[in-house]
Amino acid sequence: MPVPEDLLAIMACPACHGALEDREEALVCTSCGLHYPVRDGIPIMLVEEAYRPEEDGGR
Ligand SMILES: [Zn+2]
Repeated sequence: MPVPEDLLAIMACPACHGALEDREEALVCTSCGLHYPVRDGIPIMLVEEAYRPEEDGGR
């Protein structure tokens, strides 16, 4: 789900204020690596909703 670039440009990671990268189903912080889910085209910019896929790999 693409997020408009002008919107992406003004948003920052709420955890570290790093730049965000638009991925298929999430916005990914290029600084700390947190993934913010995008639901119905709206990025959920909450640290509580963010996840790190690499830490889920051990299941
Ligand atoms: Zn971050």
